[in-house]
Amino acid sequence: LFFLAIGQFQQGRAAIRRVDELTTLPQEGGVLDRMRHRPKPPVKSSLAADEDAVEFRSVHFTYGGKDGAGGGEGEEGEQAAGPAETLTDVTFSVASRGMTAVVGPSGAGKTTLFQLIERFHALDAGSITVGGKDIETMPLATLRGLVGYVQQDTAAMRGTVRENVVYAQPDAREEDIREVIELAGLTKVVEELPDGLDTELGDQGSGLSGGQRQRLCIARALLQKPAVLLLDEATSHLDSDSEREFRETLRKVSARCAVIAIAHRISTVVDADMIVVMNDGRVQAIGKHDELMKRDPLYYRLANSQLQAATSTASWPMDP
Ligand code: ADP
Ligand code: MG
Repeated sequence: LFFLAIGQFQQGRAAIRRVDELTTLPQEGGVLDRMRHRPKPPVKSSLAADEDAVEFRSVHFTYGGKDGAGGGEGEEGEQAAGPAETLTDVTFSVASRGMTAVVGPSGAGKTTLFQLIERFHALDAGSITVGGKDIETMPLATLRGLVGYVQQDTAAMRGTVRENVVYAQPDAREEDIREVIELAGLTKVVEELPDGLDTELGDQGSGLSGGQRQRLCIARALLQKPAVLLLDEATSHLDSDSEREFRETLRKVSARCAVIAIAHRISTVVDADMIVVMNDGRVQAIGKHDELMKRDPLYYRLANSQLQAATSTASWPMDP
């Protein structure tokens, strides 16, 4: 779907290039190469427990830019009718500790929300703050230091486990590496690898399961001590052991920072402190599982079909 979308978006070449640089990693050269491309965050910040971690205020966003201008450096002549708005009047805030789940049908705008927090694109209107500061006034490296982002398709992994974890922080201390490995629930996995942290991973991180790869990406993001961790949850089905470990990981991580997870598994959603239901670019409802089951038909439908599925580990039905 993503690549189809890119195909439709030839005009916004410059924007695509920009997003590409930020979201995809070079195929050649592997981990060490990536280190050079990634700005090193100069800050390691955490927010006070009572501060808002992220706040969206009446955010409007259109891929290619409103009226073909702005947002994506769109060129003239493509906006006969104007592209449809991707996000409309999005307002919500996330506390600095705990777990927020974002749910909604495919195409609702969930991934776009994350990309806007990371400032991959400019807003048409409204504002986003991180730690109370407007992200547009923040140096990009500061913002990216505050916000860790684990993307849905975990990128190719080459080099050793250690290299994969430290790639943005080459001089990380051993104890910090061990700590994030532990937080991400990988201590035992690493112990069982032939050379521990120094085990070479094949292309695409082969040698690790999908869930383990994702947790390795979480460990990498945690090493920068983010105030906010954005997690575009993998849709790959996890067995129940992996799922339990993953929930434990989220619980531990959300005790120290704000975790916002685009959730495909009902277990993640039921556990969340807050759930944001997105539909067609809008926030349709916000609440906890029990309230939303009573009050929001879309949520009820998503959760119910999920709960009726044979296992609790399947993907949300509308987001393959
Ligand atoms: P979700 O993560 O909820 O499935 P997305 O945020 O990926 O939704 O997409 C929201 C809408 O924006 C969809 O209609 C999608 O096709 C469109 N879209 C996503 N990425 C791009 C892009 N790079 N260029 C143009 N349209 C895009
Ligand atoms: Mg998505």
